Amino acid sequence: MPLAPYLDRRIETASPRSVQKLQEVQLGKQLNYLFARSVFYQEKFRTARLQRKHFRKLKDIERFPFTTKEELRESQAAHPPLGKHIAADIDDVIRVHSSTGTTGKPSLVGLTRRDSRMWTRLTARSFYTQGARKPDIVIHAAGLTLFVAGLSSKDAIEHIGAMFVPVGTGASEKALMAIQMLKATAMHCTPSYAAYFADWVRRETKMEPRELGLKKLFCGAEPGAGIPAVRAKLQEDWGARVTEGLGNADMAPIIFSECPEQSGMHFNGQEFVLPEIIDPDNGNVLPIETGVSGELVYTSLQRECVPLLRFRTRDRVEVLGTSCPCGRTSFKLRCIGRTDDMLIVLGVNVFPSAVKDVVSSFHPRTTGEIQIVLDQPPPKVTPPMKITAEHAGGVSNLDGLKHEIEQKIKSTLTVAATVTLVPPGTLPRYEMKGQLVKKAY
Ligand SMILES: [Zn+2]
Repeated sequence: MPLAPYLDRRIETASPRSVQKLQEVQLGKQLNYLFARSVFYQEKFRTARLQRKHFRKLKDIERFPFTTKEELRESQAAHPPLGKHIAADIDDVIRVHSSTGTTGKPSLVGLTRRDSRMWTRLTARSFYTQGARKPDIVIHAAGLTLFVAGLSSKDAIEHIGAMFVPVGTGASEKALMAIQMLKATAMHCTPSYAAYFADWVRRETKMEPRELGLKKLFCGAEPGAGIPAVRAKLQEDWGARVTEGLGNADMAPIIFSECPEQSGMHFNGQEFVLPEIIDPDNGNVLPIETGVSGELVYTSLQRECVPLLRFRTRDRVEVLGTSCPCGRTSFKLRCIGRTDDMLIVLGVNVFPSAVKDVVSSFHPRTTGEIQIVLDQPPPKVTPPMKITAEHAGGVSNLDGLKHEIEQKIKSTLTVAATVTLVPPGTLPRYEMKGQLVKKAY
């Protein structure tokens, strides 16, 4: 008998209208809870002169204020340990994770038992969408400890009935041993690690990574696996299908993930999270239609410990579709990068991942590894943008390649760049998240 294509068929194939209806009911309940339990939101609602009766239809959410990461950080600093935005009794918190954040001090995220069950279901649905199934043996070569997608991935993979192998990070020898001993079929890691580990396997074992027999790579925690040229190279290296997922430390470990069609990440949080896409400059809500891009905003629909309303993720996303041959009815998107990483070249926004995309498209003449060298603190970059890129071994006409890459950056990203080509293996490899920019100031 073929394996079921969906973990939760009813909700994953429901009409958008019925999903909205469900979200409307759930959000009403979540707002009742916030008005009753959250001092943080009681204060915000008072300032905005909002009452519970102002929410009747799902669209009324647009009248409610955003929540920012800065607010959560301040709330936690002023009211340790979990902040004024904790809405559950601290005695009911069964686990705490932390989000590392890009700006220093980690912030803590608590879970009640119900929150934990919800994360497990949502994360399991996301892995299932990516193709994780009961016979799979999944090597978890990603963070395990405070990282939100560590223990939550364990719960989710076990929930599916697949085998979870907790290898963690910085342990390539253990990962190799586990893959070989258990005849692993899948690996969960960052795309940077998948690339790093492929090189490591070649160097240490003289084997080709594809000989290890992995069939599925579940990537996440940074953009990359969805970049066509990067994906193509990883798939070629590993002989495996590469899909990516997207979550948020303050909301849930994995909320979007790609089905085997590999054409963008489906929204998997129907009854758990309400997603919005906004214009990051003015906060206006944008329609969720193919081609629309903006900042992703999340509202919790059934959270107890840290329910968040209209939380600005700073993730820039683009909607890739609203239907799919797989039968899922949720929309699909790709994450272009984080607002914090964005560079501005004479008024043009450029995400480092987009530069990597262009350089990677020259594979097999390039390795795909790049570094953008910054002469001044970002986001401002004075043109030409300085890019160091690795050429592959055996490339004869380096001047020609340099010129071609510069031309393609100009035509696709509309910014001037100078490319310095360096031999393969020159740029640093990263075992966790990749660093695409280098400070030279
Ligand atoms: Zn699909």
